[in-house]
Amino acid sequence: MEEGKTYPFGILIEVAGAKLEPELEGVIERRIHAYCNYIEGFMHLNQRYDIWLRLSKKSYQKGLNSFQYIGKVLHRLFKSELPIIEKMQITFITDAEKVKELYPQALQIYEARDARARGLKDEEVDKFYGCILCQSFAPTHCCVITPQRYSNCGAISWFDARASANIDPKGPIFEIDRGELLDPVKGEYSGVNEAVKKRTLGEITRVWLYTAFGYPHTSCGCFEGVAFYIPEVDGFGIVHRGYKDVTVNGLAFSTLADSTAGGRQVDGFHGISIEYMRSPKFLQADGGYKRVVWMPKEVKERVKNFIPAELVDKIATEEDAKTIDELKAFLKARGHPVVERWKEEVVAVPEAVPAEAEAGEAAPAMVPTITAATLPITAGGYKIVLKDAKIYAKRVIIKTVKGEKPEKR
Ligand code: SF4
Repeated sequence: MEEGKTYPFGILIEVAGAKLEPELEGVIERRIHAYCNYIEGFMHLNQRYDIWLRLSKKSYQKGLNSFQYIGKVLHRLFKSELPIIEKMQITFITDAEKVKELYPQALQIYEARDARARGLKDEEVDKFYGCILCQSFAPTHCCVITPQRYSNCGAISWFDARASANIDPKGPIFEIDRGELLDPVKGEYSGVNEAVKKRTLGEITRVWLYTAFGYPHTSCGCFEGVAFYIPEVDGFGIVHRGYKDVTVNGLAFSTLADSTAGGRQVDGFHGISIEYMRSPKFLQADGGYKRVVWMPKEVKERVKNFIPAELVDKIATEEDAKTIDELKAFLKARGHPVVERWKEEVVAVPEAVPAEAEAGEAAPAMVPTITAATLPITAGGYKIVLKDAKIYAKRVIIKTVKGEKPEKR
Protein backbone atom coordinates (compact mmCIF):
# COMPACT_ATOMS: atom_id res chain seq x y z
CA MET A 1 0.00 0.00 0.00
CA GLU A 2 1.32 3.41 -0.91
CA GLU A 3 1.29 6.37 1.45
CA GLY A 4 -1.58 8.80 0.88
CA LYS A 5 -3.69 6.45 -1.23
CA THR A 6 -7.08 4.92 -0.46
CA TYR A 7 -7.78 1.19 -0.71
CA PRO A 8 -10.87 -1.01 -0.40
CA PHE A 9 -10.45 -3.16 2.66
CA GLY A 10 -12.13 -5.87 4.70
CA ILE A 11 -11.61 -7.59 8.05
CA LEU A 12 -12.99 -11.09 8.47
CA ILE A 13 -13.02 -12.47 12.00
CA GLU A 14 -13.96 -16.09 12.62
CA VAL A 15 -14.51 -17.24 16.19
CA ALA A 16 -15.21 -20.56 17.91
CA GLY A 17 -16.19 -21.48 21.46
CA ALA A 18 -18.61 -23.84 23.21
CA LYS A 19 -20.60 -20.97 24.74
CA LEU A 20 -20.66 -18.69 21.71
CA GLU A 21 -24.11 -17.89 20.32
CA PRO A 22 -24.86 -16.52 16.84
CA GLU A 23 -26.50 -13.49 18.49
CA LEU A 24 -23.05 -12.41 19.73
CA GLU A 25 -21.94 -11.75 16.15
CA GLY A 26 -22.80 -8.02 16.30
CA VAL A 27 -21.16 -7.64 19.72
CA ILE A 28 -17.88 -9.19 18.62
CA GLU A 29 -17.90 -7.23 15.39
CA ARG A 30 -18.32 -3.88 17.17
CA ARG A 31 -15.36 -4.58 19.45
CA ILE A 32 -13.12 -4.29 16.37
CA HIS A 33 -13.81 -0.55 16.55
CA ALA A 34 -12.70 -0.25 20.17
CA TYR A 35 -9.68 -2.56 19.96
CA CYS A 36 -8.24 -1.05 16.76
CA ASN A 37 -8.28 2.33 18.48
CA TYR A 38 -6.10 0.97 21.31
CA ILE A 39 -3.23 0.78 18.82
CA GLU A 40 -1.09 3.91 18.84
CA GLY A 41 -1.31 5.75 15.54
CA PHE A 42 -4.06 3.55 14.13
CA MET A 43 -7.55 5.03 13.69
CA HIS A 44 -10.83 3.17 13.16
CA LEU A 45 -13.95 5.26 12.55
CA ASN A 46 -17.60 4.46 11.94
CA GLN A 47 -19.19 1.05 11.60
CA ARG A 48 -20.13 -1.93 9.50
CA TYR A 49 -19.78 -0.94 5.81
CA ASP A 50 -18.79 2.69 6.51
CA ILE A 51 -15.41 2.11 8.11
CA TRP A 52 -12.47 4.44 7.64
CA LEU A 53 -9.01 3.36 8.78
CA ARG A 54 -5.87 5.48 8.90
CA LEU A 55 -2.31 4.77 9.99
CA SER A 56 -0.02 7.55 11.21
CA LYS A 57 3.35 8.06 9.48
CA LYS A 58 5.08 8.08 12.87
CA SER A 59 3.74 4.66 13.86
CA TYR A 60 4.59 3.26 10.44
CA GLN A 61 8.15 4.55 10.72
CA LYS A 62 8.44 3.01 14.18
CA GLY A 63 7.69 -0.40 12.65
CA LEU A 64 3.91 -0.75 12.48
CA ASN A 65 4.23 -1.83 8.87
CA SER A 66 2.40 -5.14 8.71
CA PHE A 67 -1.14 -6.37 9.36
CA GLN A 68 0.50 -9.14 11.41
CA TYR A 69 0.90 -6.68 14.32
CA ILE A 70 -2.66 -5.42 14.09
CA GLY A 71 -3.91 -9.00 13.96
CA LYS A 72 -1.88 -9.90 17.06
CA VAL A 73 -3.32 -6.98 19.04
CA LEU A 74 -6.87 -7.83 18.02
CA HIS A 75 -6.33 -11.52 18.79
CA ARG A 76 -4.97 -10.85 22.28
CA LEU A 77 -7.57 -8.24 23.19
CA PHE A 78 -10.49 -10.35 22.01
CA LYS A 79 -9.26 -13.46 23.86
CA SER A 80 -8.48 -11.62 27.09
CA GLU A 81 -11.60 -9.45 27.24
CA LEU A 82 -14.06 -12.04 25.94
CA PRO A 83 -12.80 -15.38 27.31
CA ILE A 84 -15.76 -17.26 25.82
CA ILE A 85 -13.88 -16.99 22.51
CA GLU A 86 -11.72 -20.12 22.54
CA LYS A 87 -10.29 -19.88 19.05
CA MET A 88 -10.19 -17.16 16.51
CA GLN A 89 -8.79 -16.35 13.10
CA ILE A 90 -8.40 -12.90 11.60
CA THR A 91 -8.05 -12.24 7.89
CA PHE A 92 -7.27 -8.82 6.42
CA ILE A 93 -8.55 -8.51 2.86
CA THR A 94 -6.75 -6.04 0.61
CA ASP A 95 -7.67 -7.58 -2.75
CA ALA A 96 -10.22 -5.15 -4.25
CA GLU A 97 -11.98 -7.95 -6.16
CA LYS A 98 -12.39 -10.03 -3.01
CA VAL A 99 -13.75 -7.01 -1.09
CA LYS A 100 -16.25 -6.42 -3.90
CA GLU A 101 -17.37 -10.05 -3.69
CA LEU A 102 -17.81 -10.08 0.10
CA TYR A 103 -19.40 -6.62 0.48
CA PRO A 104 -22.96 -7.58 -0.62
CA GLN A 105 -22.77 -10.69 1.57
CA ALA A 106 -21.98 -8.51 4.58
CA LEU A 107 -24.91 -6.18 3.75
CA GLN A 108 -27.26 -9.17 3.65
CA ILE A 109 -26.07 -10.30 7.07
CA TYR A 110 -26.61 -6.80 8.51
CA GLU A 111 -30.12 -6.64 7.07
CA ALA A 112 -31.02 -10.05 8.54
CA ARG A 113 -29.61 -8.99 11.90
CA ASP A 114 -31.60 -5.74 11.92
CA ALA A 115 -34.81 -7.49 10.85
CA ARG A 116 -34.51 -9.89 13.80
CA ALA A 117 -34.52 -6.95 16.18
CA ARG A 118 -37.72 -5.36 14.80
CA GLY A 119 -41.11 -5.82 16.42
CA LEU A 120 -40.27 -5.44 20.09
CA LYS A 121 -41.53 -2.19 21.67
CA ASP A 122 -39.78 0.05 24.21
CA GLU A 123 -42.79 -0.21 26.54
CA GLU A 124 -42.52 -4.01 26.57
CA VAL A 125 -39.11 -4.23 28.24
CA ASP A 126 -37.96 -2.96 31.62
CA LYS A 127 -34.29 -2.77 30.71
CA PHE A 128 -32.52 -0.61 28.18
CA TYR A 129 -28.78 -0.67 27.50
CA GLY A 130 -26.11 2.01 27.45
CA CYS A 131 -22.89 2.01 25.41
CA ILE A 132 -19.82 4.15 26.03
CA LEU A 133 -17.52 2.53 23.48
CA CYS A 134 -17.18 5.87 21.69
CA GLN A 135 -16.14 7.89 24.72
CA SER A 136 -12.56 7.69 23.47
CA PHE A 137 -13.70 10.18 20.79
CA ALA A 138 -16.55 11.92 22.59
CA PRO A 139 -16.12 11.71 26.39
CA THR A 140 -19.63 13.01 27.14
CA HIS A 141 -21.40 10.65 24.76
CA CYS A 142 -23.48 7.72 25.94
CA CYS A 143 -25.72 5.78 23.57
CA VAL A 144 -29.03 4.61 24.98
CA ILE A 145 -30.09 1.49 23.10
CA THR A 146 -33.76 0.55 23.28
CA PRO A 147 -35.73 -1.91 21.15
CA GLN A 148 -37.05 1.02 19.09
CA ARG A 149 -34.06 3.33 19.17
CA TYR A 150 -31.16 1.53 17.55
CA SER A 151 -27.65 2.71 18.47
CA ASN A 152 -26.40 5.75 16.54
CA CYS A 153 -23.76 3.72 14.72
CA GLY A 154 -26.41 1.29 13.52
CA ALA A 155 -24.24 -1.59 14.67
CA ILE A 156 -25.81 -2.56 18.01
CA SER A 157 -29.44 -3.55 18.48
CA TRP A 158 -31.15 -3.97 21.85
CA PHE A 159 -30.59 -7.74 21.51
CA ASP A 160 -26.90 -7.27 20.70
CA ALA A 161 -26.52 -4.95 23.69
CA ARG A 162 -28.26 -7.42 25.98
CA ALA A 163 -25.98 -10.23 24.80
CA SER A 164 -22.92 -8.04 25.30
CA ALA A 165 -23.92 -6.95 28.82
CA ASN A 166 -24.54 -10.60 29.73
CA ILE A 167 -21.13 -11.89 28.68
CA ASP A 168 -19.19 -8.83 29.84
CA PRO A 169 -21.21 -7.06 32.58
CA LYS A 170 -18.32 -4.72 33.46
CA GLY A 171 -17.68 -3.86 29.83
CA PRO A 172 -18.58 -0.75 27.82
CA ILE A 173 -22.17 -1.91 27.22
CA PHE A 174 -24.26 -1.97 30.38
CA GLU A 175 -27.80 -2.49 31.59
CA ILE A 176 -30.07 0.49 32.34
CA ASP A 177 -33.15 0.10 34.53
CA ARG A 178 -35.43 2.29 32.49
CA GLY A 179 -37.34 3.46 35.57
CA GLU A 180 -40.40 5.66 35.36
CA LEU A 181 -41.73 6.82 32.01
CA LEU A 182 -41.79 10.60 32.45
CA ASP A 183 -42.85 11.55 28.92
CA PRO A 184 -44.12 8.92 26.45
CA VAL A 185 -44.01 11.28 23.45
CA LYS A 186 -40.53 12.72 23.89
CA GLY A 187 -39.25 9.46 25.37
CA GLU A 188 -37.98 10.51 28.77
CA TYR A 189 -37.28 7.85 31.39
CA SER A 190 -36.03 8.48 34.94
CA GLY A 191 -33.60 5.51 34.78
CA VAL A 192 -32.10 6.74 31.50
CA ASN A 193 -31.51 10.22 32.96
CA GLU A 194 -29.76 8.72 35.99
CA ALA A 195 -27.59 6.32 33.99
CA VAL A 196 -26.52 8.93 31.44
CA LYS A 197 -25.72 11.44 34.18
CA LYS A 198 -23.51 8.86 35.89
CA ARG A 199 -21.72 7.71 32.73
CA THR A 200 -21.06 11.24 31.46
CA LEU A 201 -19.81 12.39 34.88
CA GLY A 202 -22.70 14.79 35.29
CA GLU A 203 -22.28 16.50 31.91
CA ILE A 204 -25.58 15.25 30.44
CA THR A 205 -28.46 15.15 32.90
CA ARG A 206 -31.55 14.62 30.76
CA VAL A 207 -32.23 12.72 27.55
CA TRP A 208 -35.33 12.74 25.37
CA LEU A 209 -35.02 9.72 23.14
CA TYR A 210 -37.48 10.53 20.33
CA THR A 211 -36.75 14.15 19.45
CA ALA A 212 -34.04 16.34 17.99
CA PHE A 213 -34.92 19.29 20.24
CA GLY A 214 -34.68 20.12 23.92
CA TYR A 215 -32.62 17.30 25.39
CA PRO A 216 -31.89 15.11 22.37
CA HIS A 217 -29.82 11.94 22.54
CA THR A 218 -26.13 12.87 22.28
CA SER A 219 -24.13 12.11 19.14
CA CYS A 220 -20.55 10.81 19.15
CA GLY A 221 -19.13 10.76 15.63
CA CYS A 222 -19.97 7.26 14.41
CA PHE A 223 -23.59 7.97 13.48
CA GLU A 224 -24.73 6.60 10.13
CA GLY A 225 -26.64 9.75 9.31
CA VAL A 226 -27.64 13.19 10.53
CA ALA A 227 -31.17 14.59 10.83
CA PHE A 228 -30.79 18.36 10.43
CA TYR A 229 -33.46 20.98 10.95
CA ILE A 230 -34.18 23.30 8.01
CA PRO A 231 -35.78 26.44 9.51
CA GLU A 232 -36.90 27.83 6.14
CA VAL A 233 -39.38 24.96 5.75
CA ASP A 234 -39.75 23.95 9.39
CA GLY A 235 -38.79 20.39 8.51
CA PHE A 236 -35.90 17.93 8.68
CA GLY A 237 -33.39 16.88 6.11
CA ILE A 238 -31.58 13.57 6.50
CA VAL A 239 -28.15 12.81 5.09
CA HIS A 240 -26.04 9.67 5.37
CA ARG A 241 -22.28 9.42 5.62
CA GLY A 242 -21.86 8.11 2.09
CA TYR A 243 -23.54 11.12 0.42
CA LYS A 244 -20.81 12.95 -1.44
CA ASP A 245 -22.68 16.04 -2.71
CA VAL A 246 -23.90 19.01 -0.65
CA THR A 247 -27.36 18.65 0.85
CA VAL A 248 -30.37 20.80 0.06
CA ASN A 249 -29.24 23.56 2.48
CA GLY A 250 -25.85 23.80 0.78
CA LEU A 251 -23.91 21.99 3.52
CA ALA A 252 -22.06 18.70 3.08
CA PHE A 253 -22.34 15.71 5.43
CA SER A 254 -18.95 16.56 6.97
CA THR A 255 -20.06 20.11 7.95
CA LEU A 256 -23.36 18.87 9.35
CA ALA A 257 -21.54 16.08 11.21
CA ASP A 258 -19.20 18.69 12.75
CA SER A 259 -22.21 20.54 14.12
CA THR A 260 -23.68 17.33 15.49
CA ALA A 261 -20.80 15.27 16.91
CA GLY A 262 -18.76 15.45 20.09
CA GLY A 263 -21.13 14.09 22.74
CA ARG A 264 -23.27 17.24 22.77
CA GLN A 265 -27.00 17.92 22.68
CA VAL A 266 -27.44 20.36 19.81
CA ASP A 267 -30.95 21.54 18.94
CA GLY A 268 -31.87 20.43 15.44
CA PHE A 269 -28.69 18.44 14.71
CA HIS A 270 -29.24 14.81 15.50
CA GLY A 271 -27.03 11.75 14.89
CA ILE A 272 -29.09 8.72 13.85
CA SER A 273 -28.79 5.21 12.45
CA ILE A 274 -30.62 4.10 9.32
CA GLU A 275 -32.38 1.41 11.36
CA TYR A 276 -33.85 4.06 13.70
CA MET A 277 -35.51 5.50 10.58
CA ARG A 278 -37.46 2.22 10.37
CA SER A 279 -38.78 2.62 13.91
CA PRO A 280 -42.28 3.93 14.74
CA LYS A 281 -40.54 6.07 17.40
CA PHE A 282 -38.38 7.86 14.80
CA LEU A 283 -38.45 11.59 15.75
CA GLN A 284 -41.89 10.86 17.21
CA ALA A 285 -42.11 14.07 19.26
CA ASP A 286 -41.20 16.20 16.23
CA GLY A 287 -43.82 14.69 13.94
CA GLY A 288 -41.86 11.70 12.55
CA TYR A 289 -42.00 11.46 8.75
CA LYS A 290 -44.57 14.25 8.63
CA ARG A 291 -41.66 16.54 9.40
CA VAL A 292 -39.06 14.96 7.06
CA VAL A 293 -38.73 16.93 3.84
CA TRP A 294 -35.52 15.83 2.11
CA MET A 295 -33.13 12.87 2.00
CA PRO A 296 -30.76 11.32 -0.55
CA LYS A 297 -32.41 8.87 -2.94
CA GLU A 298 -30.19 6.08 -1.65
CA VAL A 299 -31.48 6.46 1.91
CA LYS A 300 -35.06 6.80 0.74
CA GLU A 301 -34.79 3.50 -1.12
CA ARG A 302 -33.46 1.79 1.98
CA VAL A 303 -36.26 2.96 4.28
CA LYS A 304 -39.09 3.36 1.76
CA ASN A 305 -41.20 0.53 3.19
CA PHE A 306 -41.17 2.19 6.60
CA ILE A 307 -42.28 5.66 5.48
CA PRO A 308 -46.10 6.06 5.66
CA ALA A 309 -47.31 5.33 2.11
CA GLU A 310 -49.06 8.71 1.73
CA LEU A 311 -45.78 10.55 2.44
CA VAL A 312 -43.29 8.67 0.26
CA ASP A 313 -43.78 10.88 -2.81
CA LYS A 314 -43.92 14.05 -0.73
CA ILE A 315 -40.38 13.75 0.58
CA ALA A 316 -37.86 15.24 -1.84
CA THR A 317 -34.52 13.74 -2.84
CA GLU A 318 -31.55 15.37 -4.59
CA GLU A 319 -33.34 14.64 -7.86
CA ASP A 320 -36.31 16.80 -6.82
CA ALA A 321 -34.66 19.70 -5.02
CA LYS A 322 -31.10 20.99 -4.84
CA THR A 323 -31.82 24.32 -3.12
CA ILE A 324 -34.19 25.55 -0.44
CA ASP A 325 -36.28 27.43 -3.03
CA GLU A 326 -36.66 24.28 -5.11
CA LEU A 327 -37.52 22.37 -1.96
CA LYS A 328 -40.24 24.85 -0.97
CA ALA A 329 -41.77 24.64 -4.44
CA PHE A 330 -41.65 20.82 -4.36
CA LEU A 331 -43.26 20.58 -0.92
CA LYS A 332 -46.05 22.96 -1.91
CA ALA A 333 -46.72 21.15 -5.17
CA ARG A 334 -46.88 17.76 -3.45
CA GLY A 335 -48.92 18.96 -0.47
CA HIS A 336 -46.39 17.90 2.18
CA PRO A 337 -47.87 18.21 5.72
CA VAL A 338 -45.18 20.78 6.75
CA VAL A 339 -46.78 23.26 4.36
CA GLU A 340 -49.73 23.36 6.77
CA ARG A 341 -47.35 24.47 9.49
CA TRP A 342 -46.28 27.48 7.39
CA LYS A 343 -49.91 28.54 7.11
CA GLU A 344 -50.51 28.03 10.84
CA GLU A 345 -47.63 30.35 11.66
CA VAL A 346 -48.86 33.10 9.36
CA VAL A 347 -52.42 32.91 10.74
CA ALA A 348 -51.34 32.73 14.38
CA VAL A 349 -49.07 35.81 14.42
CA PRO A 350 -49.61 37.84 11.27
CA GLU A 351 -47.75 40.97 12.41
CA ALA A 352 -45.50 39.46 15.05
CA VAL A 353 -42.18 40.72 13.65
CA PRO A 354 -41.65 44.40 14.41
CA ALA A 355 -40.32 46.53 11.57
CA GLU A 356 -37.12 47.50 13.37
CA ALA A 357 -35.89 45.19 16.09
CA GLU A 358 -33.38 46.97 18.32
CA ALA A 359 -30.05 45.16 18.77
CA GLY A 360 -30.03 43.38 22.10
CA GLU A 361 -33.85 43.12 22.34
CA ALA A 362 -35.39 39.80 23.17
CA ALA A 363 -36.22 37.88 19.98
CA PRO A 364 -39.80 38.28 18.79
CA ALA A 365 -41.77 35.04 18.91
CA MET A 366 -41.72 34.34 15.19
CA VAL A 367 -38.14 35.37 14.37
CA PRO A 368 -36.17 32.31 13.28
CA THR A 369 -33.63 31.54 15.96
CA ILE A 370 -30.50 29.45 15.65
CA THR A 371 -29.15 28.17 18.92
CA ALA A 372 -26.06 26.02 18.79
CA ALA A 373 -23.36 25.07 21.21
CA THR A 374 -20.89 25.31 18.33
CA LEU A 375 -21.90 26.68 14.97
CA PRO A 376 -19.21 26.38 12.30
CA ILE A 377 -19.34 28.69 9.30
CA THR A 378 -16.97 27.86 6.49
CA ALA A 379 -16.16 30.68 4.08
CA GLY A 380 -13.28 31.86 1.95
CA GLY A 381 -10.95 29.18 3.25
CA TYR A 382 -11.61 30.16 6.89
CA LYS A 383 -13.73 28.41 9.45
CA ILE A 384 -15.44 30.67 11.98
CA VAL A 385 -16.72 28.93 15.07
CA LEU A 386 -19.37 30.68 17.15
CA LYS A 387 -19.46 28.94 20.50
CA ASP A 388 -22.64 28.97 22.59
CA ALA A 389 -24.10 31.55 20.21
CA LYS A 390 -27.72 32.63 19.89
CA ILE A 391 -28.41 34.53 16.69
CA TYR A 392 -31.53 36.56 15.99
CA ALA A 393 -31.84 37.80 12.45
CA LYS A 394 -34.64 39.23 10.42
CA ARG A 395 -32.97 38.02 7.28
CA VAL A 396 -29.66 36.32 6.46
CA ILE A 397 -28.23 36.63 2.96
CA ILE A 398 -25.17 34.60 2.02
CA LYS A 399 -23.54 35.48 -1.30
CA THR A 400 -20.47 34.19 -3.09
CA VAL A 401 -18.06 37.07 -3.71
CA LYS A 402 -16.25 36.41 -6.97
CA GLY A 403 -12.62 37.46 -7.46
CA GLU A 404 -12.21 38.86 -3.95
CA LYS A 405 -9.32 37.44 -1.98
CA PRO A 406 -9.51 37.41 1.82
CA GLU A 407 -7.09 39.80 3.51
CA LYS A 408 -4.28 38.24 5.52
CA ARG A 409 -4.24 39.46 9.11
S1 SF4 B 1 -22.21 4.75 18.40
FE1 SF4 B 1 -23.06 4.28 20.40
S2 SF4 B 1 -23.60 2.12 20.35
FE2 SF4 B 1 -22.24 2.51 18.61
S3 SF4 B 1 -20.24 1.96 19.47
FE3 SF4 B 1 -20.49 4.18 19.74
S4 SF4 B 1 -21.30 4.44 21.79
FE4 SF4 B 1 -21.56 2.28 21.22
